[in-house]
Amino acid sequence: MSHEPKKKHSTQRKGKRRASIHLDVPMGTICPNCKAVTLAHQVCKACGFYNGRSVIKVSTPTVVRRRTVTDEG
Ligand SMILES: [Zn+2]
Repeated sequence: MSHEPKKKHSTQRKGKRRASIHLDVPMGTICPNCKAVTLAHQVCKACGFYNGRSVIKVSTPTVVRRRTVTDEG
């Protein structure tokens, strides 16, 4: 007893099925720093915070000491 599809789904049927996939706004989280809606597991594009600390430098007045990699050898 095989469970193979008997007929190939048409392009129209495939398109109809996939049309509803990307209708919704992607899931976002609220940034704890600036309360902006940002993507989950990604750096907040508004303030550059991730995991409670500033990761990237966005034009903010807060001075953040960053660790720089010095591999000049
Ligand atoms: Zn933020």
